[in-house]
Amino acid sequence: MIPANFNYESPSTLNEALNLLSAHDDAKVLAGGHSLLPAMKLRLAQPAMLVDLGRISGLSYIREAADKIAIGAMTTHAEVAGSKDLLDSSPLLALAAAQIGDTQVRNRGTLGGSLAQAHPAADYPAAVLALDAEIVAHSHSGERVIPATKFFNGMFSTALRNDEIITEVRVPKTRGEGVTYKKFHHPASGYAVVGVAVRVKKSGNKIESAAVGITGVSEIAYRASAMESKLRGKPIGAFADAAEHAADGIDVIGDVYASAEYRRHLVTVITRRALEAAAK
Ligand SMILES: Cc1cc2nc3c(=O)[nH]c(=O)nc-3n(C[C@H](O)[C@H](O)[C@H](O)COP(=O)(O)OP(=O)(O)OC[C@H]3O[C@@H](n4cnc5c(N)ncnc54)[C@H](O)[C@@H]3O)c2cc1C
Repeated sequence: MIPANFNYESPSTLNEALNLLSAHDDAKVLAGGHSLLPAMKLRLAQPAMLVDLGRISGLSYIREAADKIAIGAMTTHAEVAGSKDLLDSSPLLALAAAQIGDTQVRNRGTLGGSLAQAHPAADYPAAVLALDAEIVAHSHSGERVIPATKFFNGMFSTALRNDEIITEVRVPKTRGEGVTYKKFHHPASGYAVVGVAVRVKKSGNKIESAAVGITGVSEIAYRASAMESKLRGKPIGAFADAAEHAADGIDVIGDVYASAEYRRHLVTVITRRALEAAAK
């Protein structure tokens, strides 16, 4: 439980942090440390240098930006969960944040850190996928805006380059839509055995469109696109048949706690419940 030796830098500007990343191939950014430090203690990660983002001002905020809400990468899960701006205009991310880990984790862990970590059972990935969020990364080449649907490449793997730092996440305002995040918690770790983020637009008594992001079920969070198209035009409440397709085409994972067969069943149940709650 003792990490390998590493150097530590705590720059005070984003530019200094980017310089350090460019100069050291084996450097890693440190945010809340709630995923990176345990991995280092287990020697699953052995970066030669940590570049701590904690002293850089201006990376922690939640503010309106035209038809979107912009959230700084160093914003903690607790700040996301408690944000009045998000709860009023785009509550899905806040609903997911409120279900992450425990109070200590939510007070230290950050939005940018969680997305960069790309844990297959993390909560934010389902929400950013359902929201069609944008993930903003900075490097010395400038700013890159990565759609959430193109961000996750695999288990613990993203579209981020080594010289890039996530600075902001942008989510659309969803006033007038139904949103919810339903999670079946792993009893020991608190991570999602299955987590389902739903966004529905209604037209009268029918579903006009639905966006569903799912985590915990496979090596990578995904949009349940096959099911989304089945939901279009369906009467509110007729969700059970569509929810049966929540894991269509997905390579479902199994582990000692939940077999692949169990997870494949569970995701249909949690998805139906999430659709019903969002449509209300
Ligand atoms: C006991 C426990 C329970 C937990 N339960 C849950 C849970 O239920 N649901 C859940 O989703 N998560 C859970 N987590 C994980 C938690 O949410 C972490 O906070 C999160 O995964 C990582 O965020 P961090 O800010 O701590 O990042 P760090 O640990 O500091 O970094 C994680 C990775 O992201 C990189 N990184 C960090 N910030 C940036 C950035 N801005 N740009 C580029 N790369 C960056 C780092 O280099 C590192 O590779 C749990 C963690 C613990 C310890």
